[in-house]
Amino acid sequence: MTEPAYSRVILKMSGESFKGDGEFGLDADTLHFVSQQIKDISDMGTEVGVVVGGGNFWRGADYEQTGMDRSTADFAGMLATIMNALALQDALERVGVTVRTQSAVSMPSVAEPYIRRRAVRHLEKGRVVIFAGGTGNPYMTTDTAAALRALEIGATALIMAKNGIDGVYDSDPLKNPEAKKYEKLTHYDALSQRLQALDSTALSLCMDNSLPIVVFDIFKAGNLASILSGEHVGTLISDEAK
Ligand code: UDP
Repeated sequence: MTEPAYSRVILKMSGESFKGDGEFGLDADTLHFVSQQIKDISDMGTEVGVVVGGGNFWRGADYEQTGMDRSTADFAGMLATIMNALALQDALERVGVTVRTQSAVSMPSVAEPYIRRRAVRHLEKGRVVIFAGGTGNPYMTTDTAAALRALEIGATALIMAKNGIDGVYDSDPLKNPEAKKYEKLTHYDALSQRLQALDSTALSLCMDNSLPIVVFDIFKAGNLASILSGEHVGTLISDEAK
């Protein structure tokens, strides 16, 4: 078997990408599709950690607008990520993947606590590890959790799954038909041009630690496996100039 292009990755899945065509919540077919894509790269020998978002249920900033205390609202958002993690865990197990879920928010009856060394051991044994609860801190996002976990576990790339958008564009391709896609980009350019690929805290963490990021559309079957096969898919954000 040929070596995968990245031996260990963090895949960031936003909560939005689990809701299918619905407005809210989870879609079973979507979870099944994503699980199959993850199984394929795990079978290729890539060690896979998945950081899940919660935006299909709850975003702290939206509830702050209604007058809710921000930190409290953000903790509710972290709980939303745990719901997604459990749903993904179930869907992965149903396609035959061995999974462990670790949460940054202590919830011992549903998930292991986040313990870095234990997570690494699971990965070494070929288990997919789902990281729930974001960073465990308010005022943060799951993009930042993904960058942080990627660095902590020694991932060689952060793979940002997008929902129907196949990379980073200079403007929103859903609104502007003239939007131009970037094939490659430096972290600095992505940050300074305020491109919406991932939030600035996550991006600067990756920049400071030279962690490559691949932004791609997970809903095109085989895209994820192609990245791990070394093909250029989506947009690569890295230290190297264009
Ligand atoms: N959140 C948080 N700290 C974290 C990660 C998430 O407070 O480290 C909260 C925050 O309220 C956020 C919500 O959880 O709005 C859902 O996460 P996110 O918006 O990152 O999900 P996504 O957009 O990826 O679905």
